[in-house]
Amino acid sequence: MSVGTRTEELRLDGNALGGALLELLGPEGTAALGTCGSCGARGELARLLVYVRCPGIVGRCPACDAVLVAVVEGPERTWVTLAGLRSLELVHGDG
Ligand SMILES: [Zn+2]
Repeated sequence: MSVGTRTEELRLDGNALGGALLELLGPEGTAALGTCGSCGARGELARLLVYVRCPGIVGRCPACDAVLVAVVEGPERTWVTLAGLRSLELVHGDG
């Protein structure tokens, strides 16, 4: 699938994951450092390319476009996959 103008219009940055990650990871969730399982790029979740007009919210690697994070919220439960991440670093306190 090619990434065209239409797709880019639907794309946000990683802060769009904030609400969902706030519940899961706490207030520093988007500052967490993720390492892409596909290309090894490392950076804050806030830098992911986020697509919200999917069945849920999808965060893709800004370097290789691999899906790193997906969150689907239903009325009674939320499904989360971090399967595209090699690792996720959460900094506590002052780091
Ligand atoms: Zn990548």
